[in-house]
Amino acid sequence: MKFYSTNNKDLRVGFKEAVFNSMPQDKGLYMPVEIPRLDDKFLNNLDQYTLPEIAYHVAQNLLGDDIPADDLKTIIHDAINFYAPAVKLEENIYVLELFHGPSLAFKDFGARFMSRVMSYFLKEGEKQLDVLVATSGDTGGAVALGFLGVPNTRVTILYPKGKVSQIQEQQLTTNGQNIRALEIDGTFDDCQALVKQAFTDNELNQKFRLTSANSINIARLIPQTFYYFNAYAQLLRQGINKVIFAVPSGNFGNIGAGLLAWKMGLPVEQFIAATNANDTVPAFLKTGVYEPKPSVATLSNAMDVGNPSNWVRIANLFDEQPGALTKLIVGYTYNDEETLQAIDAIDKAYSYVACPHTAIAWKALKEYQQANHTEDVAGVFLSTAHPCKFPDVFTPEIADKIDIPAQVKALEKKEHHATSLGTGFEEFKGYLLNNA
Ligand SMILES: *Cc1c(COP(=O)(O)O)cnc(C)c1O
Repeated sequence: MKFYSTNNKDLRVGFKEAVFNSMPQDKGLYMPVEIPRLDDKFLNNLDQYTLPEIAYHVAQNLLGDDIPADDLKTIIHDAINFYAPAVKLEENIYVLELFHGPSLAFKDFGARFMSRVMSYFLKEGEKQLDVLVATSGDTGGAVALGFLGVPNTRVTILYPKGKVSQIQEQQLTTNGQNIRALEIDGTFDDCQALVKQAFTDNELNQKFRLTSANSINIARLIPQTFYYFNAYAQLLRQGINKVIFAVPSGNFGNIGAGLLAWKMGLPVEQFIAATNANDTVPAFLKTGVYEPKPSVATLSNAMDVGNPSNWVRIANLFDEQPGALTKLIVGYTYNDEETLQAIDAIDKAYSYVACPHTAIAWKALKEYQQANHTEDVAGVFLSTAHPCKFPDVFTPEIADKIDIPAQVKALEKKEHHATSLGTGFEEFKGYLLNNA
């Protein structure tokens, strides 16, 4: 498969180049030149396939011969080694739990697949790959655990001091091996600025083979399509073949993958883009005016994005049928108070604890179902993270009900290590050069 840039449809690069570049020189995003429609036999019989089988079939169709069949199978079995159950909470309401991977967030799908693809493409004897990643919490954990122990790679994570939750910090700082953590005395934006400047620094680029692991990498988008197909497979097994997905959205990679799955033939009636107060997309869907804004801080901080990078990909998917976009996607936006109410309502209705991001998607789904006749359509809201990652958001009563996964308990006993740095670039650069 070849990939073009959303800023230049004539550009053509192979999968390897798209993965290592992350972003084309022209600052567009890579998209597949052709989006294959999966055969009906596969789509109608999805219920007969496991998640890794579905993942392989979808990836194989998208990538063609970029990765030979047996190698692709190995990558997928290694990367997608956890499950993604659709749990029924009430009639026509299901939660798709995407937090059963090592970092307890859906970003594990993208990060684990990407790390293994990068490692696969690194030829023997090639220079070590140095991944620089700035995180506000979830991305760093997924990338760290995705690359942990992957040969010929090293990850440097920058996180803002005091601004990630305790469990997130443990996930970032207890890995050792090829992962190192830098605690930056500043904000997430400061971390991101340091990483960006490193990529433009000649000396660093000569010395190291730098790459970013951010969410716009096409190798993170592709594996996120897998769980949409797999959710549908689970519903088919229960005799349901009509579905709505409600997706907690920030940078719009998750819902973008869902739309890619739809483009490949997955029959989805409706997508709901659910956001916090950062409502650039819901506002666009209502008014037709796309107006990026600076982000505002909320309780669902993994969705604090005012200018979602992946929106341009979604717009590209609908190039030839612009009217279809505003029909297929509907937007909902909620503030922090509504988020807390939703967490409480979910607990009361189902004795289920949802993380703040997830709760926003549930509320949007409920409102959509109330306003539309959807009796014969299953509503699925995506749960993007385990609630234990956001302990400060919950009342003590609800926090008490959260089951802490065994892997989190194990983290507490591990040794932490982070290097503290300020926000100056020379200090960061000095660290990289002195710790080569
Ligand atoms: C990253 C993240 C999101 C937002 O996903 P996008 O793909 O950026 O829209 C939502 N919830 C959680 C918990 C996340 O970590």
